[in-house]
Amino acid sequence: MSLENLGLSDIYQARERIRGTAVHTQLMPSPSLSEKFGADVRLKLEMQQPIGAFKIRGAANKLASMSEAERARGVVTVSTGNHGRAVAYAAKMHGVRAVICMSTLVPQNKKQAIARLGAEIKIHGKTQDEAEILANELVRDEGLIMVHPFDDPFVMCGQGTIGLELIEDMPEIEQVVVPLSGAGLLGGISMALKAIKPSIRTIGVSMQRGAVMIESLEAGKPIEVEELPTLADSLGGGIGLDNEYTFKAVQKYVDETIRVSEEEIEAGLRHLYFEEKVVAEGGSSVGIAAVLAGKLDLQGKATAFIISGNNIDMKKHASIMAKG
Ligand SMILES: *Cc1c(COP(=O)(O)O)cnc(C)c1O
Repeated sequence: MSLENLGLSDIYQARERIRGTAVHTQLMPSPSLSEKFGADVRLKLEMQQPIGAFKIRGAANKLASMSEAERARGVVTVSTGNHGRAVAYAAKMHGVRAVICMSTLVPQNKKQAIARLGAEIKIHGKTQDEAEILANELVRDEGLIMVHPFDDPFVMCGQGTIGLELIEDMPEIEQVVVPLSGAGLLGGISMALKAIKPSIRTIGVSMQRGAVMIESLEAGKPIEVEELPTLADSLGGGIGLDNEYTFKAVQKYVDETIRVSEEEIEAGLRHLYFEEKVVAEGGSSVGIAAVLAGKLDLQGKATAFIISGNNIDMKKHASIMAKG
């Protein structure tokens, strides 16, 4: 399979497979941003998913697409938290063994959430890439099936179901602003929206501290960038030097990319809390951060921001709110 073979029908199929596991999330109007920027602005609340983040869409599509024989072998993945949690949740629903590999950078609250879902956790190294080495060994030695966090057609198409909901709930949509790490999310949404309405602009936002996809785009090929601790921990990790799908998807479908600082991410979280009454995690506030920092001009266009998840340590959240 390659990116060229994937299309809108794969995303419609994903929607059928994940029905009953993932929910159709709310697209909430933002009166404050709409007024401030003279545009119809809405927030897609993906924290309403059962695991508090959109990643259940991709994981559920992958697990539901596997054969009985594959399910009997079990699944393994590498994760900064939300993907691991999504795979654990979907695996539990299907009665499949799940092993989740992660680095020491992953916050405690995310580890606990995965353990509670009954998955096995294995910690290896200080980066996602180091944790991935262990996962690959488990594939080789124990025959487990890898559920990649983004560079997998089923995962990307699962995340793409957000695009179908956006166009149904907001047919007049002109642009979408999406948090960007490995681009399962941005790639899937863009693929869906551009197929339905090619004029829609798609914008990806990453944190300055490790914007691997953006730097890879600039280099013209997937590259490695040092991974640093960031408030947007769910956007951490590389894109893989052997990236097969999402790098090309971003090259093909995405119109603009933006980087935001740690301070801007904090301001985004405060806006979401004080103006929208929404608790979000750092990785999901980068789009709001970009527009508040003046790095993104909404140009009066009907815009949806993907608020991708809310799995943040609440003490940390409270301390960021207290600074406002
Ligand atoms: C994984 C994740 C992202 C980024 O998704 P990619 O598909 O890796 O680009 C954004 N926000 C949250 C909350 C996530 O868990």
